[in-house]
Amino acid sequence: MPVVGWCSPASSHQGKRRNPGHYLTRSHHLMQAMGQSVPRERDFLRFPDQQSGSYEAHAAVDGITRYYAWQRIPGFPLVLSLGLGRDKVMAPLQRHLRLSHIQNTVATVLLLLVAWQMTRLALERIQQRHRLEVQHLRLVTLMDLFQDGVLLEDASGHVVMANTGLCQLLNLSASPAQLQGIHHSRLLQCLSPQRAAWLTLPQQQQRQSLEVTDDALGRHLWLRWLPLVRAGEPLGQIWLLNDMTERKLKEQELATLASTDVLTGLPNRRSFLSMLEQHLAASATMAGSGAVLALDVDHFKQVNDRWGHPTGDLVLQHVTRLIRQSLRASDYPGRLGGEEFAVLVRHASVQEAMHLAERIRQTIADTPTPVAPNVAQVPEGHIPVTISIGVVSLAGKDSRTALAQADKALYEAKATGRNRVCLFP
Ligand code: GH3
Ligand code: MG
Ligand code: MG
Repeated sequence: MPVVGWCSPASSHQGKRRNPGHYLTRSHHLMQAMGQSVPRERDFLRFPDQQSGSYEAHAAVDGITRYYAWQRIPGFPLVLSLGLGRDKVMAPLQRHLRLSHIQNTVATVLLLLVAWQMTRLALERIQQRHRLEVQHLRLVTLMDLFQDGVLLEDASGHVVMANTGLCQLLNLSASPAQLQGIHHSRLLQCLSPQRAAWLTLPQQQQRQSLEVTDDALGRHLWLRWLPLVRAGEPLGQIWLLNDMTERKLKEQELATLASTDVLTGLPNRRSFLSMLEQHLAASATMAGSGAVLALDVDHFKQVNDRWGHPTGDLVLQHVTRLIRQSLRASDYPGRLGGEEFAVLVRHASVQEAMHLAERIRQTIADTPTPVAPNVAQVPEGHIPVTISIGVVSLAGKDSRTALAQADKALYEAKATGRNRVCLFP
């Protein structure tokens, strides 16, 4: 609110002595101010030559601090002083300051929020990347511990991950890291034609598996291919390669053990019968499909009784060696049990089979089993044995009939004096 004051200096201009004037009027608290002296420090009292000016003063009458502008009235000993309350003058500025303060505060808060959010996102991204790296490391370590081969490709056929097992099984000189990112077709170029054929992509999008043999390395592999699909969307494919070589060898060992007689190393009864069945099935339409020999050591019980069971075993092993030595490559021997043996004579006439039987009989009769003194006290140093043999033609017969008839012929050989060969009938 403006305040108007009239100042009346008490002395004349000429006298150079300046006395405080008196207020002539005042817009506020007129009555209190009227006639009161103007404070001496006012510029218009201190500097008589100055025509106008301004000052700041605190009014005792109303307690308000104001900014004053004063002006001498030309030709009159009067000064017109106009004051505006400081609060009023400063109000728009303060409003503006308050507003800009609020705006600044809001902007600062917003900036802080944005900065905090960005920092949080950046941190999350770093943590996420770290987590991914750790997971990747775990996966790579796990895959490398795996002896089987693993190949993971994306939907476009690019290698996402491979392990050391894969490089070894495919005989690749590249490392798993070097395979990463290359296309399936490029990978196939690094392989031998046989191995590349294993990894040719299947036509149908279904699990597939096949067993293959690596001709160059003599390894047996089991290959599996699995498509990766999520909600109908193809994501890629996985190849798994298992080295089955050791397992195959073990299976073969077990099969051999199951089909072999432990004492003599000959095929056992089951294995011999199976071979006989196979031969009969394969040669069903062929005339003169060979013969079977049934062999039994003569008076073997006496050998056991006289020299003991272990020495009897040595005799059986010796007889086995002699039988083997007499056979051709196409003949198939077996131990049917105890001191009974059989020989499948393939692709031979009955006469040839009879000759073979005679050769075996003679060899055994002529070659007693040598026994070392530390094994048994055999005065002569060797144990002679003989063998009886029954022979039967296989033509048009099944295995049971053939074996039964060979047994009959053998029985006849026993009955007619042993150490001889008899033909059925
Ligand atoms: P034959 O001339 O009539 O055939 O008389 P044999 O004494 O040979 O016949 P027998 O069937 O009476 O006796 C066979 C013996 O063979 C009885 C058995 O103890 C023996 N034997 C069977 N298996 C084995 C074996 O693995 N080792 C030994 N040492 N003896 C066996
Ligand atoms: Mg017997
Ligand atoms: Mg016997």
